[in-house]
Amino acid sequence: MADFSLPFFPPATQREDQRAAVLAAMARVYDAGRYVLGEEVASFEREYAAATGTVYAVGVGNGLEALHLSLRALGVQLGDEVLVPSNTYVATWLAVSHAGATPVPVEPDPATSNLDPNRLAAALTSRTRGIVPVHLYGQPCDMAAIGAFAQAHKLWVVEDNAQAQGATWQAQPTGSFGQLNATSFYPTKNLGALGDGGAITTNDADLAAAVRRLRNYGTTQRYISEVQGYNSRLDELQAAVLRVKLPRLPAWTQQRRQLAAWYHEYLAGIPDLRLPTVAADAEPVWHLYVVHTPRRDELRQQLAVAGIETLVHYPVPPYQQPAYAGLHLPPQPVAEQLAATCLSLPLWPGMTEAMVVRVADEVRRFMQVT
Ligand SMILES: *Cc1c(COP(=O)(O)O)cnc(C)c1O
Repeated sequence: MADFSLPFFPPATQREDQRAAVLAAMARVYDAGRYVLGEEVASFEREYAAATGTVYAVGVGNGLEALHLSLRALGVQLGDEVLVPSNTYVATWLAVSHAGATPVPVEPDPATSNLDPNRLAAALTSRTRGIVPVHLYGQPCDMAAIGAFAQAHKLWVVEDNAQAQGATWQAQPTGSFGQLNATSFYPTKNLGALGDGGAITTNDADLAAAVRRLRNYGTTQRYISEVQGYNSRLDELQAAVLRVKLPRLPAWTQQRRQLAAWYHEYLAGIPDLRLPTVAADAEPVWHLYVVHTPRRDELRQQLAVAGIETLVHYPVPPYQQPAYAGLHLPPQPVAEQLAATCLSLPLWPGMTEAMVVRVADEVRRFMQVT
């Protein structure tokens, strides 16, 4: 057995420095006695909007619902088509389907794994209503090109910012480009709650009001449902926890950037191993550090033997999921190629340079010797 063990997700010891503050925040909610849509959610919404450089944030139940309610607020309906990356997490597609529309895949740029703006035109039809770019792995998409295409074709944009809280494109925060933007506070995200949570950010007062209404049975006034809404509210306890963590996010992001820089340095020059590419205008937040190699499965196995836990994001693209068999979509070779070769290495705030060196040494040994 390995004498070394590096988990993919941060161990409990990494939570110690927040323990007292988080428990105090939870006690505050307990004592206040208001458990749904109280002061904590309202305050977190103000603080998260400010951190994202938007006017409004609306707390919702999770990231999937943040996407779904955004599409609903934009009037998406049956028969509409929405352009989505072919290689995203399935939630992006499910949100489109839940709104009654059809997800239309657009292949990524293989270098960045992000939606390739040059491929949007080929996917456009008279039914296309909008685009959901996903800042995969915390790498911002080319929002200038996507925004220009959307404007030229009168499409809306909803960013899926679940993996990129704190990232910027041309110095503007992701989550502030689209008409509405969705994020997730699932525990493993860069800004994670102690359970499910999500938010929608926007600069549009009417759209903010629309998603506020949709998250709470379609009501603005108690017991009057103006539209057929949903129950998808950010929990008061989760909001209190997120308020403790939000001010710490910039420091965690700095640590992630340092760890990514070390990976770049120590993994450089290994044959058959492709490191992440960062676009010139992007400041990523390294939700994941993803390398590519045709020998992915063997390398993953070797790292496991060496005590290093890795994951694959994602092994099966949405269009190949049984849930989407009914769409009969043609092969998406770029998505397929990326899914077959991608490997996510451990990267979490609190990891040390020595840990990165250890991972890099194991990768180098396997890739060069065998
Ligand atoms: C996590 C994630 C979601 C879904 O968020 P949940 O809060 O788990 O519903 C959507 N899109 C992407 C890209 C994600 O990583």
